Amino acid sequence: MARRPMMAANWKMNKTVTEAQNYTAALLPRAADAEGVDVAVFVPFTCLHEVGRMAEDSSVIAGAQNFYYEDSGAFTGEISVPMLEDVGARAVLVGHSERREVFGENDALVARKTKRAVEAGLLPVVCVGETKEERDAGGMWEKVSGQVRRVLEELGELGGGDIVFAYEPIWAIGTGDTATPEDAQDAIGRIRELLREERGGDFADGVRILYGGSVKPANVAEIMAQDDVDGALVGGASLEVDSFVQLVEGAGNSGEDA
Ligand code: PEP
Repeated sequence: MARRPMMAANWKMNKTVTEAQNYTAALLPRAADAEGVDVAVFVPFTCLHEVGRMAEDSSVIAGAQNFYYEDSGAFTGEISVPMLEDVGARAVLVGHSERREVFGENDALVARKTKRAVEAGLLPVVCVGETKEERDAGGMWEKVSGQVRRVLEELGELGGGDIVFAYEPIWAIGTGDTATPEDAQDAIGRIRELLREERGGDFADGVRILYGGSVKPANVAEIMAQDDVDGALVGGASLEVDSFVQLVEGAGNSGEDA
């Protein structure tokens, strides 16, 4: 089954509203030229209203980097799904390693948030990945499969086309130390096989799985050339619009469009 590639920018804790406006104004016409690729930008909450408004009638998907699964109430500092939808978000990152490692999000919370996003029709991009120590100790698959299984358990019978996974080895994020294309394919291919075992072929073949970790214009083509890699989640190289557009174009040229 052909899956539509996705190129996703994660701005992390970067950009003022003015900087976000300038970036989005430059991105929209160039993303419109990118055929067969879903382009998403995951922006800070403070920029989301503006980016969501600007992207409203475009193909660009405005997304948030986090949220909480309750709709409202005494959860100081949190943002809910209805709040995100209200400002034009169509997607959300769930369980980014910086949320897990710096802010202590565990697999149970990530799974619950994923289910809430799927129920609401907000596309979750669920991040999984191992540390360097876990990899060196031969524990990559134990860690990654455990993260994926926990999400599947929580999802129950909910469908597969409305969820994206991102395999992001923690040692490759923001380090310039990219996984080899073969390592990316190995992990992502195993995630797809796990989805097949647990949920069947339609689910496994429909779910997009991205790679993330120091993707840049110079290495995007070889990563996108891997059979099971459906796109990339990109931090540093997404902060400049020219560089991100090069990545979008690289995904469009990968020959995997639907
Ligand atoms: C990320 O933020 O998810 C990421 C992969 O960052 P970078 O591209 O900078 O490694």
